Amino acid sequence: MRHFTHVAGGILAGIISMKLGAGIAGFPAAIFGSVLPDSDLPTGHAVKRFLKKALLKHRGVTHSLLFAAIVSAGVWFLSRDAGMGLLLGIASHLALDSLNPMGVELFWPLKKRVRGKIKYRIDNDIKLTALLIACSAVVWVYF
Ligand SMILES: [Zn+2]
Repeated sequence: MRHFTHVAGGILAGIISMKLGAGIAGFPAAIFGSVLPDSDLPTGHAVKRFLKKALLKHRGVTHSLLFAAIVSAGVWFLSRDAGMGLLLGIASHLALDSLNPMGVELFWPLKKRVRGKIKYRIDNDIKLTALLIACSAVVWVYF
């Protein structure tokens, strides 16, 4: 999935977290959580890229339930609202990435991938983003 699709998922997660009782801190935490798992992508300067490539496989540990639980629990101790938002944001990322054939190692360290059939193409990402924004509006208005 592309960045903007994950952010749309984070907006939906943020609205859901606020509807579940998290304060306003849940919203930016959900947006942050929706893009956090892709911190395993080899970006940045050469040394950083090398280290990330050597240590982290894309869609490995940062795309697992274990990562979501540990990171969210750590934040939860500082702020319950931010912890809830972060958990829902990461969950939205994992759900979206599991929709395409590459899938995610949801139960890392087990190597089994959870995967779907939606191909990684710009038109699919635009449709998903539109659907997520529509869902966000429905949840915001009706729940
Ligand atoms: Zn990802």
